[in-house]
Amino acid sequence: MTVTTDLVSYEDALASYDPVMGLEVHVELGTKTKMFCGCSTALGAEPNTQTCPTCLGMPGSLPVMNRTGVESAIKIGLALNCEIAEWCRFARKNYFYPDMPKNFQTSQYDEPIAFNGYLDVQLEDGEVFRVEIERAHMEEDTGKSTHVGGATGRIHGASHSLLDYNRAGIPLIEIVTKPIVGAGERAPEVAKAYVAELRELIKALGVSEARMEMGQMRCDVNLSLRPNGTEKFGTRSETKNVNSLRSVERAARFEIQRHAAVLSSGETIVQETRHFHEDTGSTTSGRVKEEAEDYRYFPEPDLVPVAPAREWVEELRAGLPELPRVRRNRLREEWGISAHDMQSILNAGAIGAIAATIDAGADSTAARKWWMGELARHANESGRAIDELPITPEQVARVAALVSAGDLNDKLARQVIVGVLAGEGTPDEVVEKRGLKVVSDEGALTTAVEEAIAGNPAIADKIRGGKVAAAGALVGAVMKATRGQADAARVKELILEKLGVEG
Ligand code: ADP
Ligand code: MG
Ligand code: ZN
Repeated sequence: MTVTTDLVSYEDALASYDPVMGLEVHVELGTKTKMFCGCSTALGAEPNTQTCPTCLGMPGSLPVMNRTGVESAIKIGLALNCEIAEWCRFARKNYFYPDMPKNFQTSQYDEPIAFNGYLDVQLEDGEVFRVEIERAHMEEDTGKSTHVGGATGRIHGASHSLLDYNRAGIPLIEIVTKPIVGAGERAPEVAKAYVAELRELIKALGVSEARMEMGQMRCDVNLSLRPNGTEKFGTRSETKNVNSLRSVERAARFEIQRHAAVLSSGETIVQETRHFHEDTGSTTSGRVKEEAEDYRYFPEPDLVPVAPAREWVEELRAGLPELPRVRRNRLREEWGISAHDMQSILNAGAIGAIAATIDAGADSTAARKWWMGELARHANESGRAIDELPITPEQVARVAALVSAGDLNDKLARQVIVGVLAGEGTPDEVVEKRGLKVVSDEGALTTAVEEAIAGNPAIADKIRGGKVAAAGALVGAVMKATRGQADAARVKELILEKLGVEG
């Protein structure tokens, strides 16, 4: 596909225009069963094996609300500082699409369960930006279509389509921001930071794993520009289903550049949905946007209204976990690290693992060192999330304990970690099997030192003559002879002692 889109440079766009954004995030809840029936939500099942008359929209079937789904929605609302509706209803959003067997989506329209909140997000330089939340409402997911026979997997050019309704009816929460203004050139960064923070929050609440790469969380990026210094919002475009943090940022940035090109050439922006393309970082036109009235929303007659008792809401509020930003700031203080270091830990996805390693007895410096060094490297190389490596925080804490007891030096500890990752057993088992203890037996060390001195008389003379730095070469020789298993600091002491030199 070759679509040429005129762009102006990002700097030029911002010199003339002020971006306004709106982010709509869909989160698939991790309930065991669907929102309105008892079908399983487990991933990976054979197509159409997790369906029933209700989620297939058969005549006469009736929906029943999933209590855990409602509870999760309230928790999300509370964590986003929202008001929780005393009484609200579901609505039917009517449209036809093959992936939606009922011919309407059960959603909420003008009566969302949660509304009027905010989420504070921290930008990379530490600045806190408040994103206001319009509402969080409950709805259900659609099925999944697979278009077969074409080159692109899109419906265009396909010979036929396959439909899997296993996903139809899985509970979704849609979280919609108020227009985000005042971010200026940082708008794309704010968008990314907001989605990242929301994802952490959802995970901390335990209501979804919120894995964007699995489609459990996806974001629509609404964007418009207005001339600098003016108030009235411009016409927006809506880039649908952006499914990674990086793409959210890129999509916002691209749309800023594209809108600026259109507007500065005197043309107008069409209100439409757009698709984001990971490969090029660009967006292309989707469909012209429907108006709300096209959907003929009306209250769902087959479901009772939702009127969560205040006591229940307060109980849920009291049970909220420590929220990610609060926890992050607390840990940053406890660990005594800079905002920048904390940011690297967050980017690496290592905060949970480090905290758990400290809980298992390691000191914070050692825990950070192993996770952000050796283990981050392994995660990178194997393309895995750091917390999915086959080593537990307890095992990392054990390695750190062996180092601080002097049983391992860093080099040996790295080998132990490699062994654990390779499935050779616990750290102690790897030490045993690979024979990785530091040689601290003074007799053996002394012999190795004497041999190194005897084998390198010229260097030994230099050291005797006061060139202490030359001891490095002898330390190297001893380390080699002991296959890296000697305590290097002790070896150096012994060498200087033998040669009668003060260290
Ligand atoms: P729709 O469902 O039609 O997309 P919503 O009101 O649910 O409409 O969501 C639109 C999102 O876009 C909201 O986050 C809203 O704050 C934001 N928004 C509304 N108008 C504009 C605009 N002119 N420019 C940028 N964002 C906007
Ligand atoms: Mg929308
Ligand atoms: Zn069902």
